[in-house]
Amino acid sequence: MEKDRLLGRYRSLLVSVEPACLVAVSKTVDVGRIRVLLDAGHRVWGENRVQEAEQKWRGLRDEYKGIELHFIGHLQSNKVGKAFALFDVIESLDRESLARACAAEKARRGMCPRLWVQVNIGDEAQKGGVDVRAYDDFVAWVRGDLGLVVEGVMGIPPVGEDAGVYFERLAGLARGSAMRFVSMGMSGDYGQAIEKGATHVRLGSALFGARKG
Ligand SMILES: *Cc1c(COP(=O)(O)O)cnc(C)c1O
Repeated sequence: MEKDRLLGRYRSLLVSVEPACLVAVSKTVDVGRIRVLLDAGHRVWGENRVQEAEQKWRGLRDEYKGIELHFIGHLQSNKVGKAFALFDVIESLDRESLARACAAEKARRGMCPRLWVQVNIGDEAQKGGVDVRAYDDFVAWVRGDLGLVVEGVMGIPPVGEDAGVYFERLAGLARGSAMRFVSMGMSGDYGQAIEKGATHVRLGSALFGARKG
């Protein structure tokens, strides 16, 4: 049965990612399968699109207590209000304009989700994230000038390269800037990420199987 397979995968992954926290990435996953893990007690989840997350999680958040929802995608500045309303952690603070939008939204609401800085650890033109060379200045500016609390980093290594080097780089940046949380490692490379000090691994296909499309 599909449900038993999912639970089996979940339980063995939980053990193998220890001591890191498993962020279950539920993008494209239907509410039925999400409920299987919610009923098993899982509470930390990741989504990469605001609209999809709203549709699936508004109701689930009311129904299940203690959910911690992470935003892990590219956040458009005009969706910041919706993201503040739904997410507990925004892992993908990746540019100045978004940081300004977060500061403005925080002033409006008097609250702010936990913010982590996404770093472009592989220096790839097509990937989001703060440039490695600009990271220290960016963090100082966000903390000092904008007065935002940032307490973690997130990064994705380039495809087809030894991820370990990139994970080490990200963990080093986190240490140098007193970040408590290091989100790195996906289904294909989470073992290496944990070795290099990940506090959070973001797993989608290892849990739910390959995504279509
Ligand atoms: C989809 C996604 C994941 C999960 O990827 P898998 O390889 O399926 O585990 C992790 N992080 C981000 C930012 C993603 O978009």
